[in-house]
Amino acid sequence: MLKSCTQCGKIFEDLLDKYSLCPNCRQDEETLLRKVKDYLWTNPGTTEAKLWEMFGVSHKQIMKWLRDQRIEVTPGSAIKLTCQRCGSMITTGKYCKDCNTKIANNLHELQAALMPREERNLFSMVIDKNITEGSMHFLQNRKDSKPHKESQ
Ligand SMILES: [Zn+2]
Ligand SMILES: [Zn+2]
Repeated sequence: MLKSCTQCGKIFEDLLDKYSLCPNCRQDEETLLRKVKDYLWTNPGTTEAKLWEMFGVSHKQIMKWLRDQRIEVTPGSAIKLTCQRCGSMITTGKYCKDCNTKIANNLHELQAALMPREERNLFSMVIDKNITEGSMHFLQNRKDSKPHKESQ
C-alpha cells in the first residue's frame, strides 16, 4: 500500500504495512539509533535532556524506540516506562511479562471468539444476496405471471 512518511511526508510503498517512515527516513533513524545506543552504552543512566542536547532526539522518539524494544531503560534511569496494561515499571516494550502472557492468551481467545462472528456475517451476506435475487425473481415472475398462471 502507499503511505506518506510521518517524518518528511514523502509517499512511499509499504507492502507489509509495517512502517510509518519512508526508506530514507528509516535509514536516518537507524543511523541515529545506532549513535544513541553507542552513547547509552558508554553513558548508562543518561537523561532525556542529554539525548536531546546530543542528538536532538525527542521524547516521542525515545518512547517509540522503547516501545519498539529497540532500546532499554537502565535501572535508576530518569525515563519512566510503564506497562500499558497494568502500569507496573518495565524496561522496554509495551507490557510487562505478566501482561504479555495474558495478552497472548487473550488474543487466542479473542480470535476464537471472533471466528464464528465472521462466519455469521458472511452467512448473512449470502442470505441478503439470495433475498435480493429472490425478490427480483419474484418481480420478474409477477410481470409475466398472468399469462402463465392459468397454464400451470
Ligand atoms: Zn521520509
Ligand atoms: Zn503489566
